[in-house]
Amino acid sequence: MSAGKKIEAKTTRGVTTLYEGAYQVARINQGKVSVAIGMRIPIWSRVKTVDYVDGGTLARLHVIDRDKNTMRVIIKTLSDKQSSMQCDACMRSHSPHNKRCSATLGIISAAAAPGVLYTWGSLAPAGRWKQTDVNIATRHKVGVASYARD
Ligand SMILES: [Zn+2]
Repeated sequence: MSAGKKIEAKTTRGVTTLYEGAYQVARINQGKVSVAIGMRIPIWSRVKTVDYVDGGTLARLHVIDRDKNTMRVIIKTLSDKQSSMQCDACMRSHSPHNKRCSATLGIISAAAAPGVLYTWGSLAPAGRWKQTDVNIATRHKVGVASYARD
């Protein structure tokens, strides 16, 4: 994660949550502060843009850091239902109103080749990338992964 990101506070039903980008860093509930330490799980609803769709799995990738040949991403894997219906253009759950989504069109996604990343939106191939590391909280299907050019 890049340094110097600003901390945002959001209060819902008396509980204040502090976020740094997509990451929850602390919660304040009735004066009790809990701080997230160690491996922090990003929160997908805090992610505003998708960069790539992972070929075959259709996982959504949001780049947090990259250089020429490697990148680190927030990854959102799909539910079995969303992936079997070939949802490839909806940021969160599938919307039948999204006319760009292969699931709405009833077709097989063009983002079909494993090992290839596809540009979000156009689904233009963006080269061969190999997932070198992944850490996903299964309950939320969201985590952090690393990719290297293949
Ligand atoms: Zn969809």
